[in-house]
Amino acid sequence: MISNKNTISPRIVFAPGSRFEIAREVELLNKSRILLICDESARKVSSDLKKLLGDLLKLEIDHCVMHVPDEFSSPICAQVVALEIDLVITIGGGSATGLGKIVALDCNIDLLAIPTTYAGSEMTTIWGRTRENRKLTGRDIAVLPKTVIYDPELTYSLPLLISSNSGMNAIAHAVEALYAFDLTEEVHSAAIEGIEIFTYGLRKLASDPSTQIIRNDLLRGSMLCGFSLSNSTMGIHHKICHTLGGLFNLPHAQMHSAVLPWAVQYNQDFATSQLQEIAQVLNAPTASIGLWEVAKEIGAETSLKNIGYPIEESGFVVDLISKASFSNPRPNDSEGLMVLLSNAYYGSRPDGES
Ligand code: NAD
Repeated sequence: MISNKNTISPRIVFAPGSRFEIAREVELLNKSRILLICDESARKVSSDLKKLLGDLLKLEIDHCVMHVPDEFSSPICAQVVALEIDLVITIGGGSATGLGKIVALDCNIDLLAIPTTYAGSEMTTIWGRTRENRKLTGRDIAVLPKTVIYDPELTYSLPLLISSNSGMNAIAHAVEALYAFDLTEEVHSAAIEGIEIFTYGLRKLASDPSTQIIRNDLLRGSMLCGFSLSNSTMGIHHKICHTLGGLFNLPHAQMHSAVLPWAVQYNQDFATSQLQEIAQVLNAPTASIGLWEVAKEIGAETSLKNIGYPIEESGFVVDLISKASFSNPRPNDSEGLMVLLSNAYYGSRPDGES
């Protein structure tokens, strides 16, 4: 079923070297007091941008914490208010964008994002934060960046392993969009193209990590997958990852990669035609097998055990998820969820072959 709701997207600037357009983009937004946030990988780029921003820069944060704990973001917000900052700029992976979103939300200022991974957060109205060990998420148009600068050159340094896992995170956005009840034509096209770009591009990258043209395509894929996530309703896969991320602080992208084949298998009989379409794109007998095979081939994570998930907590996790209200093709089924978590923990091939 295809919905006809309207989609939303930030202003996009996409080109190699486009980070050097920063001053023009700030001027277009008519902002004059800036907070610049970068993660550790983007410190060098950040120092180039500082020169371009000159006196407009009022505060700089040069490290991030995944899932944005309140203890980390609150002191930053206090400074933003004291310095009367009117724009937050982020450069880095999803953790940098995530921090920028919370600052934008809590301080009521605009965000300009320059992403350097494939997390896709820069395209979404979704915020995430951690409070008392629980990951809270929500949607608010206030966290959608006003402008996103996609500069593929910033991804040329992204290590292969981070690229693979981050790419699987992006694919997860597209997969869940495709079986969402509010899928639109536009999101359908974006999600299918996103999956195609990543499954082809990540395999290419694995065989030749220095290839730059593929990097440009992959960043475009992350834009399409992020757009898909933002403009559709998330299902069981994202619910599980948000729950595990908040409870156990598991590495975000690896967790998505390990859970995805099994979340899809959980939904297999409840989203048959959508998952059949994904299986065709992956050239695999089922979407679950296809996603597992891609992850394995590109060296992405396939097991929650490897990233420290405490399997003995599964009963508690399932209980939490079962009590939550969210949309998913298959209604909540505690037994099915236990099987899903156990399968994602061991991470063996979904059809049982070796
Ligand atoms: P991350 O931002 O934590 O980055 C992972 C690592 O990659 C970090 O060490 C970082 O410094 C490094 N890195 C980033 N870019 C690099 C580059 N170009 N070269 C070398 N190293 C680089 O991880 P992530 O997977 O990008 O993002 C995860 C976070 O994003 C989580 O908190 C997740 O909840 C959030 N997220 C939010 C949304 C949303 O819509 N709100 C969507 C996806 C992810």
